[in-house]
Amino acid sequence: MARSGLNIVVVGGGIGGLFAANALIANGFNVTVHEQAPALGEVGAGVFLTPNSVRHLQRVGLGPAVEKWGARVGTGSHYFRHDGAPIAPVQVTDSSGWNATYGMHRADLVDMLANALPAGVIRTGHRAVDLEQTETSARVAFANGAFAEGDIVIAADGIHSELRRKVTPPARPVFHGNIAYRGVLAHALIPHWPTDCWQMWLGQGKHFLTFPVRAGELINYVGFVPADEEMKESWSAPGDPDALRREFEGWDSRIEGLLSQVQKTFRWALYDREPLPTWTKDRLTLLGDAAHPMLPHLGQGANQSIEDGMALATILAQAGPAAAPAALAAYERLRRERVATVQRGARENGMRYDSAYSDLGVRDAEITAHAAFRKRLYDYDVVREAELAAVGLA
Ligand SMILES: Cc1cc2nc3c(=O)[nH]c(=O)nc-3n(C[C@H](O)[C@H](O)[C@H](O)COP(=O)(O)OP(=O)(O)OC[C@H]3O[C@@H](n4cnc5c(N)ncnc54)[C@H](O)[C@@H]3O)c2cc1C
Repeated sequence: MARSGLNIVVVGGGIGGLFAANALIANGFNVTVHEQAPALGEVGAGVFLTPNSVRHLQRVGLGPAVEKWGARVGTGSHYFRHDGAPIAPVQVTDSSGWNATYGMHRADLVDMLANALPAGVIRTGHRAVDLEQTETSARVAFANGAFAEGDIVIAADGIHSELRRKVTPPARPVFHGNIAYRGVLAHALIPHWPTDCWQMWLGQGKHFLTFPVRAGELINYVGFVPADEEMKESWSAPGDPDALRREFEGWDSRIEGLLSQVQKTFRWALYDREPLPTWTKDRLTLLGDAAHPMLPHLGQGANQSIEDGMALATILAQAGPAAAPAALAAYERLRRERVATVQRGARENGMRYDSAYSDLGVRDAEITAHAAFRKRLYDYDVVREAELAAVGLA
């Protein structure tokens, strides 16, 4: 493992920034993470982890924590028509049969990633407002008057990224006209709900998803529906549980039973971006949603940000300090194509999930056939690809 002594400044303490810090430290780099919020935190909702990222969480030593805080889903996972008629099983393994698909509470994932970092790495209350570069270093300015200088800066500051404008001209995110109601319920409130299944119901213009989190203590639900006028102007907002119930009236009685227990819910507007022309400028690069926000219809935003961090750490470790800017360019080349495929795939899958088909038999056949795409997605090992991408950089 390389011990290059590079100093790396990460901006953003979300899932992407925190995983990147873990992967970089595991590869011998000096890292600080600067987060704008006064404390790390996450909304009460779930995130689904898939084998293509879980193998990297394991590589940095977080396998046991994922096992403890996650909820592994198994072969009972299924797609249904809106009324509960079964469509197809859900792909829960890679092609080798390795099952590493877990629901996790987002707060548990952020805690797990943050707690694995050495003391002093995370600096909260630091909102990045500017960045300057010389030939040998990059310096971030924060709203609180502080500065952080490093050999490299990684902007993992989310879909509204402040530092992205230093890399590529501003462009508007694309709103897809849908919102997601999200929340978790104590399993004790719905004791018959399975704690080892990912389940999705598909209807006209709407779909409903559930999976367990926190070792099955909580059930995460997401209801995807067309946006109302109010939500078109907002990114996230508290939701009205009665409005959520009305959206899924007449669907499978299991959904109505689950929703009858909801007392608090949040709404998120669904945005992505067209693939960016570039992610990197000299010693600054983008990672996670700052580089490639995507629709949630493949459950890959967080998984792809974890792949990004592992790719970056692997390439930098092989490159050596003098080649740092070339290493960032190699990272971008490796990641852009893979991520653009996933971004496009998420858009296409959203059409399937919202049943934008005149013949539901065609939709059901596509949902069934989709298992092959999932296997390819899950089989991908970014470390193997990153090692190849780094050849010649040392
Ligand atoms: C409804 C929905 C469901 C989803 N489900 C899944 C799923 O099942 N699986 C999956 O893989 N993904 C899922 N995603 C996507 C996933 O949540 C994101 O892709 C992922 O969290 C991106 O991580 P990130 O670290 O890049 O960005 P963020 O999580 O947005 O983190 C960015 C961080 O940067 C901080 N920050 C912002 N600006 C600054 C600044 N100027 N200075 C310092 N700090 C700053 C923010 O406070 C934040 O902490 C879902 C998304 C939605 C909307």
